[in-house]
Amino acid sequence: MAVVINDTCINCGACIDECPVEAIVDEDDNPTGEEVYYVYGDKCVECVSFHDVPACATACPTEGCITWDEIGESPSYRDDISAEMRSSKANIVD
Ligand code: SF4
Ligand code: SF4
Repeated sequence: MAVVINDTCINCGACIDECPVEAIVDEDDNPTGEEVYYVYGDKCVECVSFHDVPACATACPTEGCITWDEIGESPSYRDDISAEMRSSKANIVD
């Protein structure tokens, strides 16, 4: 993973077109079967080289919906984000 969408997602669609690497899918394509949007952690680059902060989180109207997650298979990630922030699933945007 890299960033993650949790179950507070309201399926508004604001994030999906903001992703520069098409890492986000809607609830119909969520591989977990949950009725929320989903980030493919092996595609998400945390917007490195594209934006100063993850664009999906900036666009999301639901506070705390998109958070940091473990790096996992992410092809690129922000090395200034601590392991503690990732494991606690800290908010990306306050
Ligand atoms: S952090 Fe950036 S690359 Fe990752 S899912 Fe969000 S918009 Fe896409
Ligand atoms: S912007 Fe936030 S609430 Fe809207 S679909 Fe994306 S993750 Fe869900």
